[in-house]
Amino acid sequence: MTTATNGSRTAVDDAQGHGRLAGPPVSEWAAAFAAYAPAPESVKVEIAPAYGAFINGRFVETSATFETVNPATEAVLSRVAACGEEEIDAAVAAAREAFPKWAALPGRERGKYLFRIARRIQERARELAILETMDGGKPIRESRDVDIPLAALHFFYYAGWADKLKYAVPGREPKPLGVCAQVIPWNFPLLMAAWKLAPALACGNTCVLKPAETTPLTALRLAEICQEVDLPPGVVNIVTGAGETGRLLVEHGGVDKVAFTGSTGVGKRIAKAVAPTKKRLTLELGGKSANIVFADASLDQAVEGIVQGIYFNQGHVCCAGSRVLVEESVLGEVVEKLKHRMSTLRVGDPLDKNTDLGAINSRAQLDRIEHYLGAGREEAGGFWQSPGDVPTKGYWCKPCLFEGVQPSHVVAREEIFGPVLAVMSFRTPEEAVARANETPYGLAAGVWTDKGSKVRWVAKQLRAGVVWMNTYNRFDPTSPFGGYKESGFGREGGAHGLMPYLG
Ligand code: NAD
Ligand code: MG
Repeated sequence: MTTATNGSRTAVDDAQGHGRLAGPPVSEWAAAFAAYAPAPESVKVEIAPAYGAFINGRFVETSATFETVNPATEAVLSRVAACGEEEIDAAVAAAREAFPKWAALPGRERGKYLFRIARRIQERARELAILETMDGGKPIRESRDVDIPLAALHFFYYAGWADKLKYAVPGREPKPLGVCAQVIPWNFPLLMAAWKLAPALACGNTCVLKPAETTPLTALRLAEICQEVDLPPGVVNIVTGAGETGRLLVEHGGVDKVAFTGSTGVGKRIAKAVAPTKKRLTLELGGKSANIVFADASLDQAVEGIVQGIYFNQGHVCCAGSRVLVEESVLGEVVEKLKHRMSTLRVGDPLDKNTDLGAINSRAQLDRIEHYLGAGREEAGGFWQSPGDVPTKGYWCKPCLFEGVQPSHVVAREEIFGPVLAVMSFRTPEEAVARANETPYGLAAGVWTDKGSKVRWVAKQLRAGVVWMNTYNRFDPTSPFGGYKESGFGREGGAHGLMPYLG
């Protein structure tokens, strides 16, 4: 058994943020959660040496397994089932068998199960936060104040929709689709599981979910929660494994709907595989989002927003503001303030509540980031990285930026998915919009200005699913999220998030 405790004080104590990389609206959630969660000192997280897959309400051992490691220490945390054809067949069959009964339950009864799941996530919030941080490397403050509370809120929110579906699609009787194959990435493991499962279940579908191979542990805790709330067997199945497991799942003939969040490359492959079938498909893919700073903005706030936009979760964020476009007249001032602020960010032990940037999720992701740092140095120049040491073990990348980036440079075009910012400039609002849209992606954008009319004009021109005004990386279960162009299609969150799961 591996055990760990989280030595932080209460969530309310540091909800004030005090100028740290505080993240989305922490204070309300943290305060609400403090009422449920046990004292942090008393939370012990037990990690079993091995976990089976969760199929038909039971944990099932497999002959093949793989390791999941703590990217901050490189220690192996556990061995997890590597699901193959046999397990995928069994999971899809269980979901298929559970479907008619689950779909026939009155919406309010399905809602009750979702409410119970939400409450159990709250009750086990500290344990889930610690586990998320150990398995994936993100700072405990983020898992504790953002990921886990938001995961619970998604279940609460869609629990409320379960008996009101006819109001979501006026004029017709909404019907669930059947068995949903859901594949998620490693950057927000439990939260992405909630984004997928909550709306699907509320609508009366049954699910087979595959977490990412580097971060399976919180999804398996969620499986325990499904058992604790007596969710009927087969309604939720969790199959662990790498890309091949995901491929087997989305290509399985017993699946009616595929929902994928991950890279654009894999998304394209899945779209091809699903195209000749009757399966419904939604894709949430990559991004290269622009954060636009006008000279009339509050520059100190904008700098906080730039930091929040690209260094939150080590930049492992699909909607990260990885390109900052600054109006030329304030470029020097903004970059100077930004470097000063970046120098104050703490990189290190993700379980320390004062840490701003934790570990890079995996060796493979660190290699990918380092590849881009090399390419950027050669092509763009203007490289700057915050000072300070990082631990000797584990995977680390200190926050950094490239100045003087041109739209043709690789660091301006390709998604790096790390704490790497491309700084560019513009002279007119038209040029800012043109540069922001000059990308195959279209997931998100930010606009910083004190002129409401300018925000509205710019937001209308941007081809991005989400446009934040004078803020960045804020999420709420009630607002839809999703992309344009190569960032995918379909929306998650809000009433829009029900549509991909209704026929
Ligand atoms: P990835 O595409 O390699 O993996 C995502 C998931 O797909 C994992 O669970 C993986 O095992 C699985 N997978 C891999 N190959 C597969 C295949 N052939 N068939 C089915 N499943 C397969 O991406 P990643 O490295 O895990 O995540 C990073 C990427 O995800 C980034 O590009 C990021 O932008 C994107 N992302 C997008 C969103 C969004 O909402 N749009 C959210 C988070 C991450
Ligand atoms: Mg791991």
